[in-house]
Order: sequence, then structure tokens, then C-alpha cells
Amino acid sequence: EVAPTEIEIRNPATGELAGTVPIDSAETVAAKVRELRAQQPAWEAIGPEGRKQWLLKLQDWLVDNTDRLADVLQSETGKARVDSLIDPAFSIDLTGYYARRAAKFLADEHPSPHSPLARVKALTTVFRPYPVVGVITPWNFPLAMPVIDVIPALAAGAAVILKPSEVTPLSALELARGWREIGAPPVLEVVTGAGATGAAVVGNADYIQFTGSTATGRKIAAAATERMIPFSLELGGKDPAIVLADADLERAAHGIAFGGMFNAGQVCISVERVYVEAPVYDEFLRKLTAAVKELRQGVDGREPKYDMGALANENQVSIVARHVDEAVKAGARVLTGGERTGVGTLFQPTVLADVDHTMSCMTEETFGPTLPVMKVANEAEAIALANDSIYGLSASVWSADKDRAERVARQLNAGAVNINDVFANMFSFALPMGGWGQSGTGARWGGANGVRKYCKQQAITRPILPTQTKEPLWFPYSPVKLSIAMGAMRAAGTRGLRRVDLLAVLKTVRGK
Ligand code: NAD
Repeated sequence: EVAPTEIEIRNPATGELAGTVPIDSAETVAAKVRELRAQQPAWEAIGPEGRKQWLLKLQDWLVDNTDRLADVLQSETGKARVDSLIDPAFSIDLTGYYARRAAKFLADEHPSPHSPLARVKALTTVFRPYPVVGVITPWNFPLAMPVIDVIPALAAGAAVILKPSEVTPLSALELARGWREIGAPPVLEVVTGAGATGAAVVGNADYIQFTGSTATGRKIAAAATERMIPFSLELGGKDPAIVLADADLERAAHGIAFGGMFNAGQVCISVERVYVEAPVYDEFLRKLTAAVKELRQGVDGREPKYDMGALANENQVSIVARHVDEAVKAGARVLTGGERTGVGTLFQPTVLADVDHTMSCMTEETFGPTLPVMKVANEAEAIALANDSIYGLSASVWSADKDRAERVARQLNAGAVNINDVFANMFSFALPMGGWGQSGTGARWGGANGVRKYCKQQAITRPILPTQTKEPLWFPYSPVKLSIAMGAMRAAGTRGLRRVDLLAVLKTVRGK
């Protein structure tokens, strides 16, 4: 049997063929990385101001091509039209931020010396990009996921090899087309294929930025460590929402409905489990169920008609169905939804009540349109259960008392906590976005760190005073020099003479 050389991309809502892409071999990936490596020095040399011009041209292209980009994205995902338009909008916002700020973020730093003894040197920290950054992305936001890491890497002065998900590679190819169409330097390449193509990226690039499942992240970490190249992993999540008894329940219900069902629940930071204080449990469930029942689900055309579309593929449907079935068998109640709609991969938005941590819907990542809700006695139990997870991506806390909510937030093991809201941190590029525990390692964005992470840091020292033939500490050694040097370092380090044994210094100086 001959191995396939192409992948067919189909709309999971309709089954329609959206496109075909090659399965790039390891040799193809290696050749493209070699080419990028040759082009990168010129890209680095034009500096952040030069790169800003190209990134802003790309931003214009994203604005001008928004409808076409949404068409392509919709054709490979079966998303609602509004969901399909979010990727380009998000991409435009992020591109502007890093295009304009990179110069400031990458400027040399002149840290103040740590000790009076170090004041004889001028200190400089220089940020130099890794030549080729490999970006490997999942299928849930086929344009935004590439853009959020490709743009900061390009802004840093790196060349980028992008390997999008084999489920949704067409939007990433559009991004590369845009880069070519504006006539930008050839420092962005896309390779297509599945795990083997991704592994070849890890085998050739100088830094790996990965977004995807925890299982794949673990393989990438092992392969990158073998090559001694740095990596950053944005992995799965099981985000809790905590609804305290004093919360505005109407807002909490609508916010959590959005947080759980946006993009049909296929968001790394979607609300995947809800803990509600006992006094408001029943009322909250009524409000949440009402909010979820209002959602319109179907297959959109170019006119936005629906709130929710399809799941990415049959594999996702089977995970969601299993989590619902297992919960129901163990005694959970389905308040709305619970089944496929009968069209494509569409699964009804589902609210489950009376769940607990023996159920897979509360412990495994679902990545679909389910909101399992559990009653808790109080705040302390909510915090303990929220932290009872291998994941720690993000969380939300709902309360009328913002100070109380923040006290709760600071006790949660999560990379981000939004108070009385969901996803808000995703729209603040000045904040770091990273998971704790099995949700990842490293972080994206966070202002300057968003570009500096793609750089090696170089330390340069340069004499301030005129130099002599020999520094006092150079050869030949002598007890006198040693004790003076030790005394000086101790005095400087302890900020005083308290820890300097003057008698000992004196003894050594006299040769005793
Ligand atoms: P996945 O891990 O199956 O695939 C992700 C990418 O890795 C794909 O491009 C795939 O081809 C590639 N890949 C697979 N095996 C590889 C290997 N051995 N070496 C290199 N690359 C390899 O993930 P998915 O199913 O596409 O995406 C869903 C997952 O992504 C969920 O777990 C979700 O939580 C996570 N996610 C996380 C974030 C975040 O920022 N933390 C954002 C979106 C999605």
C-alpha cells in the first residue's frame, strides 16, 4: 500500500470538500528551515522599525481580506459566521500591538550593577532572536492560533516555520499567502501534514512554540530537550467557574453560558466545570439553563444566523458524548441538550447538574459544549475542588464583592483568573497567558516577554575607567590580594563591615 501524500480538508458541518494539502516530508521541512535560516539575518538586520512596516502592511491585508479569511475558516471548521469572523479581528488587534511595541520591548537594557564593586563596568543586556522559530498549532482557531505566536516571533526578528493542524490548515496557508502578497521578505513558511511533519519542525527549528493537547506537548518537550532547544507549551485545560452566593446570578449565568459554549466549547480556556455555593445553586441552574436554551444552533452561510456551529470532527463528538453518557449513568441530570442535533458534527449545548469529581465530565478535558454544575457548601470547598485538577490554565470567580473574589482568585492554581467575566485575559496582550501544571510551561505575551521569549539574551560588559595592564585579581595570586578581594566582596555583599573578619585579613596580610 502506498502512503497518502495529501490530506482532504472537509467542512464537518456539511461534509463538503474545502481543500487539499500536501503531507510535507521531513526533507521538505528541513529544506524550508535551511532557506529560512539563510533569509533570517537580513530580517533581523532591518530592526524592529523596519519589521514594523511589514507587519503593519500585513495588518492592512488582514483588514482588507477579512471576509475571505472568514470564508476559508468557516469552510474548514463549520463554525458559526460570527465565530469565523473573530479570528481575523483578533489577529488585526494583536498584529498592531506587537508591530508598534517591539522596538521598545527589544531595546537594549542597562541594568544597574548589583554591587558597588560592579560599578566599574557599563552593563548591557542585548536581545538577539533565535534564527528559526517553529510554531505548531491546533484546529480550534485556525487563523488566530498561528497569528498569536507567529507575529511576536516575526517582530522579534526570527524567521518562522508554521505547522498548522492537519484538521484546519487552510487558514494558515492564507496567512502565508498574505505575507507573500504584500511582498514581505521570505521569512514565513507554512508546512502541512500531521504529527510526522510537526515532529520534523521540532527536529529542525531553534525554538518551538506549541499549542495543542497535553499528550502531544509531552512528546514535543522530550524531543526539544533531546536537541537542547527551548520551547513553550500552551496545552489543555479544565477551567473552573466559581459562583459565590452574593454574585449577580443573571450576569454569572449569561457569562458562564458564553464561556462554556463560545466556539461550541472548543476553546482551551472555555468554562468546563462550575461550582456554585449551595444557597444559590437551584436559582443559578434555572438561569443558566434558560440562557443555554436560548442559543441558536445550526449551519451558517455568509449571513450570521446562529450562535453555535459544528464540532471540529467525529473524534470531538465522541469525547463529548462519552462525558455526557458517563455522567448520566453515574446519576447526573441533563437540564438541556445532551445529544447530537443530527446534522454533521453538531452537538447540542448541554447543561449537567448534580455532578461530582468521580465523573469524567469534571476531570477530563471535554473541549465541547457542556457545562457540568456542582453544588458546594462554601467558598473553601469551591477553591479545593477547583484546584483538584491536573490542569491550571484559567478560571473565573463570580461575586458582588470584588475584594472577596480577588482573595479567592489568589488561591486558585491557574495561570489566569477573570473576576465576573470569562476570556478577558485573552484580550489583554500586556498580560502573560500561560498554563500551570499540565496546562503548559512558559507563557505567551505579557508585554515585553512576548517578544523577548523568542530571543537569546546576551550580556555585555565594558570598562568605564581607563584600564591598567593587569586587574588586581589576575595572576600571580597572593594571600594579600586574596584577603583584600575577599574582604571587599564580603563588605559589598553584606553592605558593611559586620561580616568582615578584619583580624583574619590582617593576619593573612602579615603572612601568618
Ligand atoms: P493536538 O495535540 O492533537 O495537535 C496539535 C498540533 O500538534 C497539530 O498541528 C498536530 O499535527 C501536531 N502534532 C501532533 N503530533 C506531533 C508530534 N509528535 N510532534 C510535533 N507535532 C505534533 O491538539 P488538537 O487536538 O489539534 O487541539 C486541541 C488541544 O489544544 C486541546 O487540548 C486544547 O486545550 C489545546 N489548546 C490549548 C490552547 C492554549 O493556549 N493553552 C489553545 C488552543 C488549544
